[in-house]
Amino acid sequence: MKRTSKKTLTLVLFVLHVLLCAVMLIACNPTPAQIEKAFDTYGKEKAFMKTSGGKVLHLANGTTTYYIQPAVSGDYKTISEYAAAKANTLTSAVSICTSTLTADSSSSFLFSVQSYSSSDKKANATNFLNSSSKGVVIFSEIRYSSENLERKTMQYKKHTALHEMGHTFGLGHVTDSILNGYTVMLAEHPSSKYELDDYGEFDRANIEWLYGK
Ligand SMILES: [Zn+2]
Repeated sequence: MKRTSKKTLTLVLFVLHVLLCAVMLIACNPTPAQIEKAFDTYGKEKAFMKTSGGKVLHLANGTTTYYIQPAVSGDYKTISEYAAAKANTLTSAVSICTSTLTADSSSSFLFSVQSYSSSDKKANATNFLNSSSKGVVIFSEIRYSSENLERKTMQYKKHTALHEMGHTFGLGHVTDSILNGYTVMLAEHPSSKYELDDYGEFDRANIEWLYGK
């Protein structure tokens, strides 16, 4: 091999090596500046779902009562109450109570369990939301998929319950994996390393932006 081509080959290999390290660094250890940028890019108004008229979805000030259906028992009852309790730590503008006693006028907020017969079989849970034209969420039914969650850990189930309650607040999905560990609103359930048992910094910042502390 001629000397020049050997030099070129070494240089190319070196450049590839540096690039590979850079890609891995970004994937594994985002810098504080990168996290800050992601908060700006995906946070505040952009973190919330909108009505067709462009209004940000949100809960009305005051108390929201969730009705836990009698069929929601065991782990599902536990994680429903857990998600409601954690929701109450996000803001004082809204407080969420759970009731298992009666279906009253506020039971349009409810928890249930379903065994999927059709629709999205991949989903661990679904949140059926309705809102007024002003963006106030007036209906939220969180349905857990017993088939998908049956053999999952309690940590996994808690993350799922927090995620669904996040939708009730109006939060949409986060699709950038750079926010792994900073939010429960990732579109795909994260690996156990990033499963959270409370709302993350990103979720809290967005909730506070809309509702206040
Ligand atoms: Zn979701």
